[in-house]
Amino acid sequence: MILFNDFNKEPEELVRRELAASERVLRSGSFILGTEVRRFESSWAQTCGSAHAIGTGNGMDALEIGLRALGIGPGDEVVAPALTAFPTVLAILRAGALPVLADINEQTGLMDLKSVERCISDRTKALLPVHLFGRILNMEDCQELCRSHEIHLVEDCAQAHLASWNGRQAGTFGDFGAYSFYPTKNLGARGDAGALVTNSPELAALASELRHYGQRESYRHDNAGLNSRLDELQAAILSERLSFLEDWTSRRRDIGEKYCEMILNEQIKLLSKPLQPSSHSYHLFVILSEKRNALMEHLKRNGIVSLIHYPIPIHHQPPCREVRRDPVGLMNAESFAGRCISLPCHPFLTDAEIERIAEVINAFR
Ligand SMILES: *Cc1c(COP(=O)(O)O)cnc(C)c1O
Repeated sequence: MILFNDFNKEPEELVRRELAASERVLRSGSFILGTEVRRFESSWAQTCGSAHAIGTGNGMDALEIGLRALGIGPGDEVVAPALTAFPTVLAILRAGALPVLADINEQTGLMDLKSVERCISDRTKALLPVHLFGRILNMEDCQELCRSHEIHLVEDCAQAHLASWNGRQAGTFGDFGAYSFYPTKNLGARGDAGALVTNSPELAALASELRHYGQRESYRHDNAGLNSRLDELQAAILSERLSFLEDWTSRRRDIGEKYCEMILNEQIKLLSKPLQPSSHSYHLFVILSEKRNALMEHLKRNGIVSLIHYPIPIHHQPPCREVRRDPVGLMNAESFAGRCISLPCHPFLTDAEIERIAEVINAFR
């Protein structure tokens, strides 16, 4: 069986280091907002080339906290893509603001900036691009659009660890970037974890208060914040796992390239190639098929697990059925959601397994 993620294939050396890190925390007697969190925050900020990283309980909260720290709330609109993980949009709703849904580009699955233009109104306060599947958008275009409309730029980087555009890491192009370290993400904890990265000292200070009950100093609450802290155990484990991230990411890029070369079935549509070698971190390798159910069944019969990201676009989710959207429609998001299939793309796939998957796909009629 070729699994979608295979944690049991992680190197024994990593397991030993994680066990030692866990013991270190358990014996330290410090479990919340201690030295491990500060150490990981500082390494993650450095990895991203960002001045600050604030650890949070998860990626969705990092987005909500960042939006609230920018003063975005009731009556404000935030433009987001109609095809993304639901938490992208749920974070906007949780901040009290209104999501407005833009269509996607069918070659990449990413937010289409022409559609974004049609979504912007005088209530729009921010653009929230999602670097979906690990592919970063053209960030100069996003910056230019935000400058011309005088709105904030905030990035959902939950799938885009180490994806960069012209040498700059995801999350550093606008006001802040939100990362998730959910276990299956390219850098995953052993439970929930997330972080917000920003170059603004004011935003960093406010975000670190908001994640901690809006507490400025002990027992003084200037804001009605939330409880969303990264804990010491996850931070210590993340620090160990971080030293493997570069290798894992280059293996994911290898796998992406191999799939692109080896999948030759004319009934299958590949997404467009990344524009720069480092602009895609291949969190997911996604293909399109008109006969999705049959292809997934065929893969399963051949011992290969595949998934769908995402079967239901945001505007068909009950809490979002009434939200404002591109007046022209969300046709690409609809059609993509009906055809997309994600293939296994974790860094422990062997060359033989990749060949096998390509062979099985090429034999599909
Ligand atoms: C995983 C994910 C999130 C949410 O992250 P959590 O840590 O699960 O809260 C948000 N956006 C995208 C695109 C994601 O893939």
